Amino acid sequence: MPEAVVTPSARDHGARRDLGSPALSHLAQPVMARVNQLSEDFWLDSAAVDTAAAVPASHLDALARAGLYGIYAPVGEDGLGLDGAATSAVVEELASGCVATTFLWVQHLRLLSTMLDPETPLSWRERLKGDVVAGRCKGGVVLTGLMPGPPRLRAEPAGDGWRLEGEAPWVSGWGLVDKLVVVARAPGSRIVSLLLEAKEVPGLSATPARLSALNATSTVSLHFDGLAVPGDRALGERPYKEGEDALAGLRLNGSFALGLTKRCCLIVGPSALDEELVARRGQLDAAAPDEMPAARAAACELALRAAHAVVVSRGSVSALAGDVGERLAREANVLAVFGSRPAIKSELLERFHATPSGPAATKRVTAPEGGTYGNACTTNES
Ligand SMILES: Cc1cc2nc3c(=O)[nH]c(=O)nc-3n(C[C@H](O)[C@H](O)[C@H](O)COP(=O)(O)OP(=O)(O)OC[C@H]3O[C@@H](n4cnc5c(N)ncnc54)[C@H](O)[C@@H]3O)c2cc1C
Repeated sequence: MPEAVVTPSARDHGARRDLGSPALSHLAQPVMARVNQLSEDFWLDSAAVDTAAAVPASHLDALARAGLYGIYAPVGEDGLGLDGAATSAVVEELASGCVATTFLWVQHLRLLSTMLDPETPLSWRERLKGDVVAGRCKGGVVLTGLMPGPPRLRAEPAGDGWRLEGEAPWVSGWGLVDKLVVVARAPGSRIVSLLLEAKEVPGLSATPARLSALNATSTVSLHFDGLAVPGDRALGERPYKEGEDALAGLRLNGSFALGLTKRCCLIVGPSALDEELVARRGQLDAAAPDEMPAARAAACELALRAAHAVVVSRGSVSALAGDVGERLAREANVLAVFGSRPAIKSELLERFHATPSGPAATKRVTAPEGGTYGNACTTNES
């Protein structure tokens, strides 16, 4: 029996309408017009991307042509010069078209930030910044060194450089990005950032992860087995402080849940979900750092509920593998765990009335002793 082919149709797409987009600066308005179009183009491919091994190169090229690889680089350096609010709005809009494509592109922002950082060695900025801003050089991230508890990825000094040992359990964009910004733990409670080529070499191997959704992000786990890294690959070094907080930096990933919800709202048609979307966006935008976990959890919960509203409103066709409702629900599941932190997880479980109880509970949902929600990165927190 041939399988039913499920592709997005006009009915799946839903009529476009205003869902309370944020006020945008004069710089951001023309960018957003282009992003709206890209998002609709991506949406038409989204069922195919769901089953693809990798996000199509045409999507990445389209992002580069729109200047989005240099989204917040200064205009004088060929960037789009957008601020944080506009960057969040772009992530939301693109995610309403294709979460996998957006996810992959967001990983690049760490490399972009690195190239814009005056602390990054001048030699790297001179060599790479133009290509990074233009998207000719695409980046991924390995933030394993920031994770609390015993180091999972260790950098030991070796000659004039470093030797890497350990695991990075989640790295997206393998085979699609050129460079990786790797954060590893160094001796003396320090962390070091290194710039690596994103390819297998002796001492570095990749094992693909088979994801239930967003599989086209080409996510792998990386195994570092004494990988020698020359000293000129070091981008910077600083003390590691478990508990060092960057909760404000958690705003951007909240836009994935908003974008997925936006698509669900378009499919379901006008409903109370529209107002909730506006409210959750406002909550994320207004959140002080200590309020961010609750705002992130609320956005995730809305995305999960909105996806299930699509499933229910479409009826039994949603039971077909690859149906738009089934797919959006799988994507919402992944967004509920990606880029999480202990406080986001606790807030989300509370919203599900599933806060663990009993003696083992605290261990299960909170960070290890002296745990952290921290992340040094303000633009890509992965
Ligand atoms: C599909 C997918 C793709 C991903 N792609 C990437 C990627 O490309 N690069 C990448 O670095 N990570 C990536 N991650 C990992 C990621 O964003 C988080 O590590 C993860 O979502 C947290 O998962 P967890 O709650 O199971 O905690 P675990 O992975 O078990 O982590 C243990 C603890 O570390 C904390 N933690 C995890 N990451 C950080 C961090 N960056 N800073 C501070 N604390 C942290 C968690 O909050 C948790 O308390 C990806 C995750 C998924 C699911």
